[in-house]
Order: sequence, then C-alpha cells, then structure tokens
Amino acid sequence: MARKLHVPIRMCLQCRQRFPQGDLLRLQCKDKKIQAFDGIGRSQYVCVTCIENPKLVKQLAGRCKCVKESHEEIISLLKELRADDR
Ligand SMILES: [Zn+2]
Repeated sequence: MARKLHVPIRMCLQCRQRFPQGDLLRLQCKDKKIQAFDGIGRSQYVCVTCIENPKLVKQLAGRCKCVKESHEEIISLLKELRADDR
C-alpha cells in the first residue's frame, strides 16, 4: 500500500482555512515590523488569497500589537516573499 507523505497543515490567520504549510506565507513581527519568519519566536501563516484582503493588516495588528505599516507595504512584502519561494 502506498503511504501518503505527511504534509503539515496550517491555518491562515485571516480566513481560517487550512492549507499545506508550503502553500502559506509565514510571517513574524520583529522590531515593530512584519517580516518573513526567521525561525525564532512566534509566527503567523497567511494564504495567498488573503494577501489581497484589506482586513489582513488589522488581523496582523491584532496579533502583534505593533504593526504600523500600511497595507500596501505589507502586500508588497508578501509578494516579495511569494516570489522568493519559487
Ligand atoms: Zn486566508
């Protein structure tokens, strides 16, 4: 019998849908900025669909308490991260 490879499933912080971890962007809050997760501390997952959702920044701000960037800055960061994945 073929065994499926185990893929970690994570939840998008905005839409709360579950996705394979590799399909999500992993972010963290550091020095009052949202950035790519560097392997230390807490992280948040966001799906590609929710990158375009204006509510995302509010969600991130609610989690991190120190998010000050505009939505546009966060979106461009997320798109850069997405491009790096490929
Ligand atoms: Zn989502």
